[in-house]
Amino acid sequence: KRIKISVLTIFPGMFDILKNYGVIKKAIEKELVEIDIFNLRDYTTDKHKITDKPGYGGQNGMVMLAEPFYRFYDEFILSKSHKPYIVLPSPQGKVFNNDLAFELAKKEELVFFCGRYEGIDERVKKIVDKEVSIGDYVLTGGEIPTMVIIETLLRFLPGVIGSKTSVENDSFYNGLLDHSHYTKPQNFRGMKVPEILLSGNHERIETFRKKESLLKTILKRPDLFIKKELSEEEKKVLIV
Ligand code: SAM
Repeated sequence: KRIKISVLTIFPGMFDILKNYGVIKKAIEKELVEIDIFNLRDYTTDKHKITDKPGYGGQNGMVMLAEPFYRFYDEFILSKSHKPYIVLPSPQGKVFNNDLAFELAKKEELVFFCGRYEGIDERVKKIVDKEVSIGDYVLTGGEIPTMVIIETLLRFLPGVIGSKTSVENDSFYNGLLDHSHYTKPQNFRGMKVPEILLSGNHERIETFRKKESLLKTILKRPDLFIKKELSEEEKKVLIV
């Protein structure tokens, strides 16, 4: 599966960070994803390429003009045979999580509108499919939230992360936190790797990890644990 992602921003250069490192860079090279960055200024109508003006109502900061977003919509989005899914990162949106990332990863084409200043003129929301917040705090622009959302959803695309099981064992995938991880040396400054991980007994290792995952979730994220429906196997791991 291949996904196409377009981003509309006044700071296209910020996305070099997303595109030029690690797993996402490789996913682009493998053509699992195409990420195109559009400069909002290219869709302005005046010679100074203005993208924001003071907000109505006074005592307000600058607000991003609706016009350049609608021009992009008319020229880029309406020219397509199928409509891409438009995401507006905003502190007022649905709070982002793994489930929402999974849903977004199923789309064929996504478009992100990045706001700045006080935000984007409210009338742009009419052409947006989903407002998404990355948490209950406010950043200065939509670029970093957009990168957070893109990086998270791309991990769910087959082939982006080498092993499917590593994504499935990560925190939140099955409503639990991940188990702990160790690498060489076996004894690091007197701290030893749990014996069982060296035993070669895969069944016992699996049970040990499951139990750790359940206990970590209970201790660190009781809010997640109470929402989790335990399988019979998970119940057994906890009780035995
Ligand atoms: N006045 C807006 C409000 O209080 O709802 C905040 C505007 S914020 C300073 C500027 C831009 O940053 C927003 O338009 C949005 O694109 C982005 N942004 C800020 N915080 C965000 C968050 N928690 N999640 C997603 N996007 C966010």
